[in-house]
Amino acid sequence: VPYTKEDIIRIVREKDIKFIRMQFADIFGQLKNVALTASQVEKAVNNQIMFDGSSVEGFVRIDESDQCLYPDLNSFTVFPWRAQFGETARLICDVYNTDGSAFMGDPRNVLKRMIGRMHDMGYDTFNVGPECEFFLFKTDENGRPTTETNDEAGYFDLGPLDHGESTRREICLNLEQMGFEIEASHHENAAGQHEIDFKYADALTAADNIMTFKLAVKTLAQKNGLHATFMPKPIFGVAGSGMHTNMSLFKDGKNVFYDPDDPRGLSKEAYSFIAGILAHVRGFTAITNPLVNSYKRLVPGYEAPCYLAWSASNRSALIRIPAARGQSTRVELRSPDPSCNPYLAFAVCLAAGLDGIEKGLTPPAEITENIYAMDAAALEAHGIAALPDSLSSAIKALEADPLIMDALGDHVSSYYIAGKRREWREYKTRVSSWEVEKYMTNY
Ligand code: ADP
Ligand code: GLU
Ligand code: MG
Ligand code: MG
Repeated sequence: VPYTKEDIIRIVREKDIKFIRMQFADIFGQLKNVALTASQVEKAVNNQIMFDGSSVEGFVRIDESDQCLYPDLNSFTVFPWRAQFGETARLICDVYNTDGSAFMGDPRNVLKRMIGRMHDMGYDTFNVGPECEFFLFKTDENGRPTTETNDEAGYFDLGPLDHGESTRREICLNLEQMGFEIEASHHENAAGQHEIDFKYADALTAADNIMTFKLAVKTLAQKNGLHATFMPKPIFGVAGSGMHTNMSLFKDGKNVFYDPDDPRGLSKEAYSFIAGILAHVRGFTAITNPLVNSYKRLVPGYEAPCYLAWSASNRSALIRIPAARGQSTRVELRSPDPSCNPYLAFAVCLAAGLDGIEKGLTPPAEITENIYAMDAAALEAHGIAALPDSLSSAIKALEADPLIMDALGDHVSSYYIAGKRREWREYKTRVSSWEVEKYMTNY
C-alpha cells in the first residue's frame, strides 16, 4: 500500500506506537537503525533525521560526518513480535548528504542507480526471488550460540517436539503479518538447517525484504532460545547455506525471458543475460560471497556451485533454469550466500546481465552432466572455469572487472575492497585448530 506522510503520522498515533526505527544498511549489509520516539514522527517523515555517518562501516570520514535519512514511506511496518515497551514500527531509509544529494556509499542508492540504467534500456522491472537458507543452533546457559542443533540432539530431548520446526512456523506467521507472501518453508539438508521462500518482487523491494527477513528470523529464534545464523558454512562436512537468486526482467507486465518459440522456451535476452552473468560472476563473487567462510561452502558435493556452467536442470551448475515457463521463466543463480549485502548483490547481478544483453552475448553450451563428478581434464575439455576459491582471489577478480567496479561506484568499491582485504589479512595470519591437529605431533 502506498502511504502518505499523513497516513504514517495518523497510524503512529492510532496504534499507540512508541518507537520508530529508521533503518538502512552499511556497505557490508549490516542492518543499522536510529530508534526514535513517536514524538519525532513528523521530523522522520519530512527527511529531517540526521545521524553521524562516520560511525557507520564504509560511510564517511569524521570531517564530513552529518548525513540525513529519507524514509521510503511504503516500507512502513509495525513489528508483529511483542516489544517490551509498546509497539515499534520501522521505516527503511535512503541516505542523503546534507546538501540534498543522494549518498554514493548507500547500498540502496547503488541498486537504484543500476535499476535506472535498466529503465534506460527499456525494461520496467528486475524481479528477484531469493531462497534464504539458515541454521538454528542451541544457545548455552549464557545465551551464546553453540554449534549444537535441535534435531541432532533429539535423542537427548524429553519431548517429541522439534523446537526448530515450531520456530520456523512462528517466523512464517510473523512475516505474513508484515505482508510477506510465504511460498514455501521447509527443513533443509543439514540438521538444524531451514529455508523459507517468499514471493519474488522488484529488486529493491526484494533486497529490503531480505533485510527484514534476517531481522525477523534472528529475533524470533532468540525469542525461542535459539540462535539463527546466515553464516554460509557453519559446520564442516554438511551442507552450507545459500541464497539462490531467481531473476527475470519484465517489460509492460510481461516476462521478457520467456519465448514460446524457442526449444527451451527462453528468449534471446534470457540467453544473453545468462552469458552476461557467466562473463562477470568471477568479478562479482566478492559481493555475493563476501566472507572468508563463504568459500568453504563453494566446494563440490553439497549442491553449492564451484564451476562456471549453466544447465536447465542440474543442481551442480552455477546457473539453473527452473522448469516453470511463462511469467515464472527465470534464471536461478546458485552461488550467492545469505551473508551478502542484498542491495549490492542484486545491483552487480543486474549489471552483469544487462551487459550480456547490451553486447548480445551468447552463453556456452549447456552442461547436463554432474559437474562435481568431472575431473580436471573433463573440465578443461568442456572449457569450464572455476569460481574464485578464496576471498583473496575474489577481491583480485573484482578489481579486474571494470564493469562491476563501475556498478558499485568509486565510494563503495574502494571502502568495500579495503575492508575485505583487512578481513583476509586477519584470517590469513591466524593458526587454525585444523593446523594444530595436523602438524603439532608430526613435526
Ligand atoms: P527451487 O526449486 O530452487 O527450490 P523455489 O521454487 O523454492 O526454487 O523458489 C522459487 C523462487 O523463485 C521464489 O522466491 C519465487 O517467488 C521466485 N520466482 C518465481 N517466478 C519468478 C520470476 N519470474 N522472477 C524472479 N523470481 C521468481
Ligand atoms: N544448501 C545448498 C547451497 O549451499 C542448496 C540446497 C538447495 O538446492 O536448496 O547452496
Ligand atoms: Mg534450498
Ligand atoms: Mg533453489
